[in-house]
Amino acid sequence: MPLELVTVPCLKDNYAYLLHDPQSGATAVVDVPEPGPIAAALAERGWTLTDILITHHHWDHIDGVEALRAATGAKVTGAAADAHRLPPLDRAVAEGDQIHVGTATARILDVSGHTVGHIAFVFDGERIAFTADSLMAGGCGRLFEGTPAQMWTSLSKLAALPPDTLICSGHEYTQSNLRFAQTLEPGNRDLMLRITAVAEARAQGRATVPSLLSLELATNPFLRAANAEIRASLGMTDAPDVDCFAEVRARKDRF
Ligand code: FE
Ligand code: ZN
Repeated sequence: MPLELVTVPCLKDNYAYLLHDPQSGATAVVDVPEPGPIAAALAERGWTLTDILITHHHWDHIDGVEALRAATGAKVTGAAADAHRLPPLDRAVAEGDQIHVGTATARILDVSGHTVGHIAFVFDGERIAFTADSLMAGGCGRLFEGTPAQMWTSLSKLAALPPDTLICSGHEYTQSNLRFAQTLEPGNRDLMLRITAVAEARAQGRATVPSLLSLELATNPFLRAANAEIRASLGMTDAPDVDCFAEVRARKDRF
């Protein structure tokens, strides 16, 4: 039986996700910006929370962890590297580790850049990756702690996943991300189509996440450092990919 994935809007523009394994009854939440909407989504479906998976230490991803843990007894998993600044971990993990949610298995990737210690949970069998503030819909997280090279390495790991992987990211920033993307790549037809689709979704109050990796590869400028039109826009025709990425990130910060 396939896993069920539910996107849960939280706070102003955050997303948490529920992942439910009907076979075992196990249910995980990825990030807990606030407990209320997540508890409501669980109750609505009659699911019992078994696992809390944390991507990184920022308050808007962990603020509701203790409340949910107290209410459900769910086990908390997060990066060993960040154990000093996360809620107490039942399971501390690092790149290469595997964890289980019921019958499903996730692989841990280190995707540092936004923070150092940011991890992604990749369910290879289900083609679902929880990337939070590393790879985002149409963008990537701001570099608060890591270097451009670190983020480029992280994004390259995610870009190498199967293109039909669902990317579950942490915020509803897609519209402004794509407006920026268009300044670099006005000739990208896939990007134009995505901008239209996203505008429609937002007008109807729908989330623009999760998104397919194939769509990110076609439209997300942070994965497209090798693209000729982007390089021409940057005036960096012959620069290494990582330098083009760094320049795209710097321009987005000023956008
Ligand atoms: Fe963050
Ligand atoms: Zn965030």
